[in-house]
Amino acid sequence: MDRLQEALEAWRQALGDEHVLADEATLARARTATFATTQTVAAVLRPGNAQEVRTCVQIAHQMRVPITPVSAGRNQGYGSRVPAQNGVLVELSRMNRVLEFNEELAYLTVEPGVTFAQAHAFLEEQGSRLQLATIGGPPQASLIGNALERGDGMGPYGDIFQHVCGLEVVLPTGECLRTGPGRYPQAQAASVLRWGAGPALDGLFSQSNLGIVTRMTFWLAPRAACLRLVSGIIEDPFQLGPVVERLRQLRLEGTLREAFSLWNDYKVFSVLGQYPWEAARELTPLPETQRQKLRTEWNVFPWHLNCVLEAPSEVQARAAQERVEHVLKDALPSLTFLREEEVGPGRLRQPPSARNLRMMYWRKRTPLPEVPEPERDGCGFIWLSCAVPMAASHVETALALAEPIPLRFGFEPNLCVLGVSARCAYLVVAIIYDREAEGEDARAMECHHALQQALGEAGYYPARLGIQSPVLPFAPEDDSPAVLRTLKAALDPHGILAPGRYLP
Ligand SMILES: Cc1cc2nc3c(=O)[nH]c(=O)nc-3n(C[C@H](O)[C@H](O)[C@H](O)COP(=O)(O)OP(=O)(O)OC[C@H]3O[C@@H](n4cnc5c(N)ncnc54)[C@H](O)[C@@H]3O)c2cc1C
Repeated sequence: MDRLQEALEAWRQALGDEHVLADEATLARARTATFATTQTVAAVLRPGNAQEVRTCVQIAHQMRVPITPVSAGRNQGYGSRVPAQNGVLVELSRMNRVLEFNEELAYLTVEPGVTFAQAHAFLEEQGSRLQLATIGGPPQASLIGNALERGDGMGPYGDIFQHVCGLEVVLPTGECLRTGPGRYPQAQAASVLRWGAGPALDGLFSQSNLGIVTRMTFWLAPRAACLRLVSGIIEDPFQLGPVVERLRQLRLEGTLREAFSLWNDYKVFSVLGQYPWEAARELTPLPETQRQKLRTEWNVFPWHLNCVLEAPSEVQARAAQERVEHVLKDALPSLTFLREEEVGPGRLRQPPSARNLRMMYWRKRTPLPEVPEPERDGCGFIWLSCAVPMAASHVETALALAEPIPLRFGFEPNLCVLGVSARCAYLVVAIIYDREAEGEDARAMECHHALQQALGEAGYYPARLGIQSPVLPFAPEDDSPAVLRTLKAALDPHGILAPGRYLP
């Protein structure tokens, strides 16, 4: 019997046959992303608790069989649930318990299978006055998978990994550790302090392959009593730089407490509807006449600004609105403010929604299905998210580099500048295509690599990697590759955990 068969036998004994899946439908789902992949998946393991995760890892370590963890596996645009290299998938969606909730101290501790939709519903059920950062992506995505990828969301704690603590981690040898004070008996501050005494380890387990996280605490923000939707249209791209400068000022001084987003027209089109194949006479990328036509018909402008202003009282909301007006108005005369009641009750802090998933169907010729499943439906979708200092010169340079590249490959430059923190923005590019169109898988990947290369050469490196580019094609100037290799070899001597995911 080879090692894989021996391992499968051992996993079956540990988890039960029903949680070691190797049927073709499951495997096909596990190896399909929203772009071309060649990785194979031999089985999908579905442990139900941390002890079972530990057993799965110990078996993998003993038998030298590579395993890759996913929490909910909704990492769409970065590879969905497909591992970076051939192996066995460990899917943690059965571990979906909320382990602890504290309204007073404002935190929620969960297992990896807890999704944004579930956490939101849980807080509603509790009648909580707290909010969790909510992503614009799939509601069925997991809190832990997202945080480990250092995802971004709406709300004051939108830079998600900045607001977590108390990770419980199973290491590739099967050892287990807790980060922060929680490693000590009866630690009272385990869920409210990140550091504790000694080296802080949390960061090691984000965007890495050094451990499987089985528990994490998320800090929650109070729901603000008063909200304003701040929007503006930018008709002339030359306005963008001055607007970014002023938004930075508002972020740095704390008037704007959460990420703003600047979307270009192509991005707005992709969430409003589908590619006008007939009107465009089957031509791609979108002909300029059609672009202008869609702008007029759908009331879309070259760029749109959106952000939410939060304040604990109406007086403070009014003062913050005045401040935003004062700082932004001359750079953005179209600035508007809408109170929550005017936008629609609950609309500014609505539950995680699937509406942005529409983007993935932009180039499809079939309508958006009721339950979108982009991998099944042959949606082509690749993200590239690069870190850009929040200054006019940088944002303008990065946009000027990025904008022409998709057009060269036959795709629309679908762009967003996300003001994720006070000093740094992400330039997020979506390459959207139809996987059923011949040659597009290859062209879209070339486009991704060309974008990454051009932006990287100018110093704008990705903030997050997908399996489309598991390791950056740029050589660091320091000793980090050797140090990271040493760390990986020490924690994972047989290299069984998610090989190729961020680290070898
Ligand atoms: C239209 C659209 C909009 C999107 N909007 C956003 C957005 O606003 N913000 C955002 O951040 N993302 C967004 N995404 C990207 C993505 O969907 C989310 O980041 C999503 O949260 C990732 O899926 P997941 O949480 O199920 O993670 P998973 O797919 O479960 O995990 C992602 C990766 O994290 C690692 N991992 C997962 N779980 C563990 C674990 N327990 N231990 C160790 N490693 C683990 C693995 O490397 C895995 O590949 C969007 C995607 C689309 C298509």
